[in-house]
Amino acid sequence: IPAINGDFYELGKTLPPAEREIQLKVRSFMEKEIRPIANEYWNRAEFPMHIIPKMAELGITGLTYKGYGCPGHSALLEGFLAMEMARVDTSISTFFGVQSGLAMGSIYFCGSEEQKQEWLPKMHKMEVIGAFGLTEPEVGSGAAGGLTTTCKKEGDEWVINGQKKWIGNATFSDITIIWARDLDDQNVKGFIVRKDNPGFSAEKMENKMALRTVQNAQITLKDCRVPESDRLQEANSFKDTSVVLKMTRAGVAWQAVGCSRGAYEAALKYTNDRHQFGRPIASFQLVQDLLVTMLGDLTAMQTMVTRLSVMQDNGELLDEHASLAKVFCTLRMRDIVDQARELFGGNGILLEYDIARFVADAEAIYSYEGTKEINSLIVGRAITGHSAFV
Ligand code: FAD
Repeated sequence: IPAINGDFYELGKTLPPAEREIQLKVRSFMEKEIRPIANEYWNRAEFPMHIIPKMAELGITGLTYKGYGCPGHSALLEGFLAMEMARVDTSISTFFGVQSGLAMGSIYFCGSEEQKQEWLPKMHKMEVIGAFGLTEPEVGSGAAGGLTTTCKKEGDEWVINGQKKWIGNATFSDITIIWARDLDDQNVKGFIVRKDNPGFSAEKMENKMALRTVQNAQITLKDCRVPESDRLQEANSFKDTSVVLKMTRAGVAWQAVGCSRGAYEAALKYTNDRHQFGRPIASFQLVQDLLVTMLGDLTAMQTMVTRLSVMQDNGELLDEHASLAKVFCTLRMRDIVDQARELFGGNGILLEYDIARFVADAEAIYSYEGTKEINSLIVGRAITGHSAFV
């Protein structure tokens, strides 16, 4: 039986040798530390807190940031690492993406020099865990113009009121970046809100059928007072929030590749192990056709995100580039996990075969960081010159 490998065109070889080594180190961490516990924690809807110090030891948090104790590696490596994590457990990859991308990215791209120096080294070491609070119970896709969480300056402090929904890591994060509309100038501003702030409370969201290991919270901000020194000094409007989202959306496209690759590799292995009619099911023509269809899509996705990250490294990445990859890869991912699940027959709905978890988790990746429709409209606006947003 040939080796199970979802990187058919060997795109991993586009990384320089030193970065390739880091990719393989993360793969080995995921296989040893996460694969054996992934289904158990997913089933219990709990986060394995004990893995945080072990992940910190990998030294990959805030991978692309320059300075502040961060390693300053390429966006290409960052993409490969998101893929490696999602290939084994999309929840762990999401936990990491919130910490390293959304939370640290908000401070890196929108914080003052003092704020970066205060938080980024500790977040790199995962001594401080972050969350990113943009979405609200009644405002998701329309966050740019519709945020109802408000902030108002009173002397040297800001008073924040409102609610947030779906905020990953926020049940245990030390800080949460809260985005709120300024009642005076109506612009969106960002704040570093500490967990012990008496006006801040986070309640775990229960009964999710996807990414169950990720702890999502509903947050209430009630006369939450934050000093001016904890306002992100370079976040002056939603355009600044978008800078963070552009980077993390590219990461979600890579996650979709990882989730698809995990599903494809699991299916390829299963079809060789499983026998019917006295032969491995992998020997049947219809099964091979399905596997090849999956591999074709997977290879197209990997090629796309590899180029996307090269553009990011060259400073050429635009919103529409990241959005197109998010749309294309999450759509293909939905097909791939379904096709993989099909090849497991009845076992496809049992958690112990991993594939059921990939199918469920794909649904969350499909919707977060901008739905298919919203990302399509971003690309549509760029290619037609007409904005379909109201
Ligand atoms: P809605 O905006 O209500 O959309 C519902 C449907 O209407 C969608 O199909 C949408 O595409 C469609 N629609 C809306 N507007 C238009 C339009 N103009 N044209 C065409 N169709 C339209 N948010 C955070 O801030 N921080 C987090 O850490 C975070 N983590 C998440 C984790 C998970 C597991 C999930 C599921 C979500 C998370 N989110 C987080 C929120 C996520 O970003 C939103 O769910 C997403 O942006 C969509 O918003 P919504 O769910 O409110 O859907």
